[in-house]
Amino acid sequence: MPDLLHKYRKMRDFGETPEPAGGKPKRGKLPIFVIQKHQASHLHYDFRLEMEGVLKSWAIPKGPSYDPSVKRLAMMTEDHPYDYAKFEGVIPAGQYGGGNVIIWDQGGWEFIEPGDDPVKAVKSGKLTFRLYGKKMFGEWALVKIGGRSRSDKGNEWLLLKHRDEYANEKVDVTEVAPLSVVSNRSVEDVSPKNVWNSNRSDPLKGGAAPTVASRLKAEKKPAKKKAATKAPAKKKSAQPSGPARARKAPSPKASARTRSSPARATPAAKPTRRRPPR
Ligand code: MN
Repeated sequence: MPDLLHKYRKMRDFGETPEPAGGKPKRGKLPIFVIQKHQASHLHYDFRLEMEGVLKSWAIPKGPSYDPSVKRLAMMTEDHPYDYAKFEGVIPAGQYGGGNVIIWDQGGWEFIEPGDDPVKAVKSGKLTFRLYGKKMFGEWALVKIGGRSRSDKGNEWLLLKHRDEYANEKVDVTEVAPLSVVSNRSVEDVSPKNVWNSNRSDPLKGGAAPTVASRLKAEKKPAKKKAATKAPAKKKSAQPSGPARARKAPSPKASARTRSSPARATPAAKPTRRRPPR
């Protein structure tokens, strides 16, 4: 079995980014899809379909359109791990794709054609499918194009809406429904605290987004001693409250998200992740 996530992992430093490093699909349900609105150097919508245990991914600069006459450019990107579908938060500046991410829509999907193998369909450069989301419904198609221009890297596809009862030429879904279906936040307002945690099923429960490295570290070292003397039984990811928690001078706790590898264990982490995205 080839490592489908090799490229994904190579592009990221999981000591620095709160993005997931892996995750396995759940059984017995429709495969999942997610569309993440991503304010990186350019705003785009990352459309991901579960297949082969990972998320096949396309970056769509303008997002989907319900108008069947509108074709939206979709650049195929590297496979993402299954758990990425739960990611909402902030990718630190300087990291690949640095910027804010919200879960713009999510749900299940169903392969329609051609054939009976969606993986083969992707390889063939065309697939049609049905979406069962909160914003995305009905039949859609992804069709590979390209080979025409020098700039084409073989990853250019189009996303288009099939004519069905959901097709609509008048409503711009990205405009009328801009917010996260998970937190109801806009991509500008997403909080680094309001994010994904692999140990929790409900991303709304809050808490700082731990990096993979910080989570592994936390598993090695059980509860810190001094936590017992202060706030009673707060989770390690909980942010202390009060004026002491200024952004410029993060307490060791507040900076837990960036303090990930042993080499950078000093609390005086440089605030690189506060820079605007590239
Ligand atoms: Mn993206």
